[in-house]
Amino acid sequence: LKRQLNKLKNTAATTLDGINIELLGNIESVNDIKSLNNLGVDGIGLYRSEFFYLNRDALPTEEELYTEYADVVKKLKGKPLTIRTIDLGVDKNPRWFGPSHTMNPALGLTGIRLCLAEPVMFRTQMRAIMRAAVLGPVRMMWPMISSVTEIQQCLTHLNTAKQQLNDRFQKFDEKIQVGAMIEIPSAALTVNSILKLIDFVSVGTNDLIQYTLAADRNDESVSYLYQPGHPAVLKLLLHVIRTAVRLNKPVSICGEMAGDAQYTRLLMAMGLRRFSMNANNILAVKNQIIQSDLLMLENEVQKILRNDDPDKALKLLKKFNSSHE
Ligand code: PEP
Ligand code: MG
Repeated sequence: LKRQLNKLKNTAATTLDGINIELLGNIESVNDIKSLNNLGVDGIGLYRSEFFYLNRDALPTEEELYTEYADVVKKLKGKPLTIRTIDLGVDKNPRWFGPSHTMNPALGLTGIRLCLAEPVMFRTQMRAIMRAAVLGPVRMMWPMISSVTEIQQCLTHLNTAKQQLNDRFQKFDEKIQVGAMIEIPSAALTVNSILKLIDFVSVGTNDLIQYTLAADRNDESVSYLYQPGHPAVLKLLLHVIRTAVRLNKPVSICGEMAGDAQYTRLLMAMGLRRFSMNANNILAVKNQIIQSDLLMLENEVQKILRNDDPDKALKLLKKFNSSHE
């Protein structure tokens, strides 16, 4: 099978009925780009920028960040890059950050909350990203957004960061595209208002599943409850995808679900056209895409989406997939 998949490296990700699907990569550092470039991805849909902040004694400076991002942009040779601003606090705690004292880190000061609490740090990263965006197509994405209020706060900081760059006559992308990760149910349910203020959204299913089902994504004892195909998760996904399509704004999924070939057909049938994943999943997902007839899938998927029973959802999905093998 591996040899068969390897043949797909240069095949376009197009369905049998001619619909193009965008396949993007997830990276943690500049070192991950080479393998993705070899697979012919359309760009990077998620750069987990917080890894550059770990394993060091102090916060990186704007120049250090700029140098790193410039390197990533150059290695992508014109392909688009989505830089997620740092998402620290739960499992990733840098030394300079001090120990966490909260009982519930996943419900505490993480992601965008931490950035909004440390605006000097936040704007430093924003400036580095906007400067790197002069060198190629770069978008900025904010993690763990829970409401439109946080988007408004991010936009205020973004404007301040732009003003700071203007004040020192620095070159930067004044019109940089900004987006939000949808990974908290409250954001999924209010995505209409969120999308009116920004350019795109990307769904972080790893966290969205965790928060929707109240099942820790890393806790083995409740892993049986952590179900990407749970009807509640699917309803949220469908709402986000449909809202984005209606508003004509790009939507992708960048959680592990996007790289799980079991869900490729289902997600396409729900309207998703943009998937971002780790390098090792690209070819298996592409293999599903090129064998799918979307028009046919869309009719069949209604049964799965109308169902409320998670066990039945699993069975229906298996049946749905095997009938298209
Ligand atoms: C997610 O939550 O799905 C996601 C992509 O972000 P992370 O896995 O880094 O939390
Ligand atoms: Mg997440």
